[in-house]
Amino acid sequence: MEYKYGTAVSPGIAIGPALMLDTEGVHIPYRTVLPEQVADEVERLRRSLREAVEEARENRQRFTARFDPAIGNIFAAQQSALEDPSFWVKIEHLITTHNYSAEYAVSRGIREPVKKLTDAAARFGEHAGGGLARRQAAELIDIERQVLATLLGHQSPTVGPVSGERVVVLAHDLMTSDTADFSPRTVWAFATESGGPTSHTAILAGALEIPAVVGVGPFLTDVSGGDVVIVDGEQGLLILDPDDATIARYEAKRSALLSRADRYHSLRDKPSVTDDEVPIRLLGNIELASEAALCLERGADGVGLYRTEFLYLNKTTDPTEAEHYDAYRSVVTTLGPSRPLVIRTLDLGADKFSSVSGLLSTEKNPFLGLRSIRLCLRKLDLFKTQLRAILRVALGGDVRVMFPMISTVDELRQCKTLLNEVKEDLDEAGIPFKTDLPVGTMIEVPSAALLADVLAKEVDFFSIGTNDLIQYTLAADRNNENVAHLYNPADPAVLRLIRMVVEAANREGIDVNVCGEMSGEPLYTSLLVGLGLRQLSVTPRKVPEIKRVIRHLRVQEAEQVANQALRMDTARQVTNFLRDQLRRILPEAID
Ligand code: PEP
Ligand code: MG
Repeated sequence: MEYKYGTAVSPGIAIGPALMLDTEGVHIPYRTVLPEQVADEVERLRRSLREAVEEARENRQRFTARFDPAIGNIFAAQQSALEDPSFWVKIEHLITTHNYSAEYAVSRGIREPVKKLTDAAARFGEHAGGGLARRQAAELIDIERQVLATLLGHQSPTVGPVSGERVVVLAHDLMTSDTADFSPRTVWAFATESGGPTSHTAILAGALEIPAVVGVGPFLTDVSGGDVVIVDGEQGLLILDPDDATIARYEAKRSALLSRADRYHSLRDKPSVTDDEVPIRLLGNIELASEAALCLERGADGVGLYRTEFLYLNKTTDPTEAEHYDAYRSVVTTLGPSRPLVIRTLDLGADKFSSVSGLLSTEKNPFLGLRSIRLCLRKLDLFKTQLRAILRVALGGDVRVMFPMISTVDELRQCKTLLNEVKEDLDEAGIPFKTDLPVGTMIEVPSAALLADVLAKEVDFFSIGTNDLIQYTLAADRNNENVAHLYNPADPAVLRLIRMVVEAANREGIDVNVCGEMSGEPLYTSLLVGLGLRQLSVTPRKVPEIKRVIRHLRVQEAEQVANQALRMDTARQVTNFLRDQLRRILPEAID
């Protein structure tokens, strides 16, 4: 039995027979054709390109209809690369001027930009657009493989229930087009040797609800097709050759997850109130418009954070006002007129899709650079387009706007001035909009937390973004495992800043929420309620778990927990203390 650790990208547990998928690229040898065969070769190329375009278009439509335009857009990049006439011309040119075979021309024509992108990825590093260059290179290789498969008459590797049994797919890496063909009916789960959490394959796994672990490192030589394997999409674990006891343990874990899901389902319509009847508003964090339905299904009261960066996913141009409007409109329609929807303006840059709109960052330190609101305040057209859409859509629901990464009072005032300018423009054009749109700011930079008393006079609400607040307070990159020991929500410095923000909000009588990952961890629920929070916004799948903890809390006890935690010196002491408290209140939450 062997345990292999990777990155969990889609939750759930699967135990089943392995299906090894050979997804390695085909090596195309140098080959030329006779001059009189050139015209036929060009025709062969055109036919296969047309087929590939058709497939990308179908995938885009299928995934847009089933999930969301942002998911469908994963295929838009492939479609537009394939439809680009200069791409066709370039490859045809290789055939007509060098007499290359169609296969060799495709391979050569694609490998060259792939090499440039791979070099750029290595040069920029993951946070400065390198991740994006790597994803673009992967998309091109996927295109190459699809076109070559048609030219060579190969069947693309399909996964089906050969013996009526679902399989666990194991591969070195999976291309977007491989994963697009998966269905939870045929694929229990998948695990790959390479790949990262922001890859398109990872995003599709989440959308398809197929448990998945990526970036496991080499394991394919240690397993054969048909062997039973376990994929633990909760812990990011692949278990090869599990013994009977481990299989039994995982069977039990799987049924516990299923029965927990049932129990959580029964919580859906119960109110989010503490045991002593204090309401704690529980909202969902979403990235795709389609996730709003998931929030309601899981029992959230609305959406506390709509991360709009996903409107940029795989787009080569800025989203239009209509695209913004349509996405927001569909969330408003799902939530209805009275459930809150907090739309956060674009938080692009650093690790978030930084190459769109010519924004490919070459900064040495992008997390401290031109990201988020700083970028929007430089690209006013882009910002105003989004604000127009938000102001218009707000007429139909309880919509609020929120600015990310505010680090000075001036920055916030500039945003508000701009919002007023957009209102004037809409007014002059006679376009209806919500005149008294509530305005909030994220508190996710220590300077904003320290100035919370001043900022509180400027806005209608705060939302504490602990993901960034922790990284900036402790100077520890949230994605860097080398400093993961420093990145801790329980650090006393973080707790003091949260307390400061809540007190400032309470003094001004404005709402305050926590929307970082911390609010979705049951360990911190009593601490946050004890610190005075009456609103939490969490990833949709965490809503029932947090609601369950809230319903077991008493506010006075939570306040004692917070007071005691605030007197501690280290994150470790706080964590141990909170763990003991949670074990006392709701032991199953600790398990
Ligand atoms: C945060 O920083 O806590 C937050 C919610 O924003 P994001 O994770 O999108 O940066
Ligand atoms: Mg943030």
